[in-house]
Amino acid sequence: MASDMTSKELEDKYFMKAFGRDLKIVKGSGSYVWDENGKKYLDMLAGIAVCSTGHCHPKVVDAICRQAHELIHISNLFLVPGQGELAKELVEISGLKNGRAFFSNSGAEANEGALKLARIRTGRKNFVAFVDGFHGRTMGSLAVTYKPAIREPFMPLEPKCTFVEYGNLEALEKAVDGDTAAVIVEGVQGEAGVVPAPKGFYEGIRRICDEKGALMICDEVQTGIGRTGKWFCFQHTGITPDIITIAKGIGSGFPMGALVAREGLTFNAGEHGSTFAGGPLACAAALATLDVLKGVLPDVSKKGEILMKELAEFSPRGIGLIIGIPAGEERAKKIYDICLKNGVIVNCASHGAIRLVPPLTISEEEIKAAAAVIKDAFKQTA
Ligand SMILES: *Cc1c(COP(=O)(O)O)cnc(C)c1O
Repeated sequence: MASDMTSKELEDKYFMKAFGRDLKIVKGSGSYVWDENGKKYLDMLAGIAVCSTGHCHPKVVDAICRQAHELIHISNLFLVPGQGELAKELVEISGLKNGRAFFSNSGAEANEGALKLARIRTGRKNFVAFVDGFHGRTMGSLAVTYKPAIREPFMPLEPKCTFVEYGNLEALEKAVDGDTAAVIVEGVQGEAGVVPAPKGFYEGIRRICDEKGALMICDEVQTGIGRTGKWFCFQHTGITPDIITIAKGIGSGFPMGALVAREGLTFNAGEHGSTFAGGPLACAAALATLDVLKGVLPDVSKKGEILMKELAEFSPRGIGLIIGIPAGEERAKKIYDICLKNGVIVNCASHGAIRLVPPLTISEEEIKAAAAVIKDAFKQTA
């Protein structure tokens, strides 16, 4: 039903107050979006690292539309069109030999699945995660998420989790014991402001997990599906995790999550499930996304280097097209506003960092245009 209230008025009156927002985006194409007044923005956020193929990529739109005409939903009581094909693709690009995939509807849910799998297959209860790590907002994924402001109001949380300083292998060695089911870690801490793992960290985690009989879960929700220039961030290291979790970039914006586990780690009948997960539309969107990204992946590292070089004077950090620039809380907000005014969408992540996670399909010209606006905003706020 139509309403004579504006979107903002409707939100203020009827919507829970969990988000503070004013801008209404109504259209997207490639690296650009448009607001309700027709103003155009170069989108360096891409729906928070989600619209990996850009907005409304024709191949993704076409795959979703074609599938919608055939079958929208059937449940996991039946073989779902596209599910087996997508599982095969994910296992292959992950390199987890003889591994298996399982689907979810979000990143948090993918992590829930990983925590459940780790518990049931190890018979152990507890987890170890890292300071400033982010793994989602559901009870289980929140229990392994660090940020006290979002976690502590919901205590007590399960499972029991010990937080260790990111990069500190000595502390990790002490924290992992015979009750630890798994260590969960991000290769780049995205929400924390884009903090890449120090060299040798993943190898150290792998060694400690092997020694103590704990599993290693790599949360690739933000870093996976090509974001860092390889299909998965762990592939920049010499190790293979036991479980990886995936979501954001996998469906170009169609909600989906997944986990891939190594050989021998599987849910058995009845141990996990979901009504919607891995539905026909999500699988079609993800298969089309992977197909598009196969052609894009070889250029992601180079694009990231161009963006880093353009912004070099402000000490950016990151891998591929996940880049953070420290600015400080107040300055970051000002930079966000100036960029927005000048037609570029950036993001303020934790600890006052500007986060850039543009579509992986972004062109060199678009990168340079965005960088010019961002540079100008940094200079104006210096
Ligand atoms: C966004 C994110 C999640 C949570 O994903 P949702 O789809 O929002 O539930 C989990 N882990 C990481 C690393 C993320 O960036």
